[in-house]
Amino acid sequence: MLLISCPNCGPRDETEFHYGGQAHVAYPESPNDLTDRQWAEYLFYRENTKGTFAERWVHSTGCRQWFNMLRDTVSYEIHSIYGMGQPRPDIKSPGQSSEPDQPGEFTQAGEFGQAGEPGLAPGAASPTATTPISSEGV
Ligand SMILES: [Zn+2]
Repeated sequence: MLLISCPNCGPRDETEFHYGGQAHVAYPESPNDLTDRQWAEYLFYRENTKGTFAERWVHSTGCRQWFNMLRDTVSYEIHSIYGMGQPRPDIKSPGQSSEPDQPGEFTQAGEFGQAGEPGLAPGAASPTATTPISSEGV
């Protein structure tokens, strides 16, 4: 079970909230100019990130306000909670440094704003790098 800190009410149980999908999906500037495919992609296509993901939540049984959350979809760790309309925070884990000792090394670090593990292919998460799981399920 997640303990979610509502920006207005403070820490509350996950059951008081409802998930609202991916955050920062901007409404098209000129929706009449979109093709059917582009419109369908705006409506239905969402990222399926393994790792840090920006998503919307609403405190449905509390203040009924929407907010954004940066959450790790693997470990369920909540990295950041921020208001609607605010940009996605650029998070870095405390142990992550610039690692200048490996110049030119191929890395996937930071592609999705998640804690980088240089040299690992996407999806090859290191079991030693996981954080304590704060939830038993979705
Ligand atoms: Zn609230």
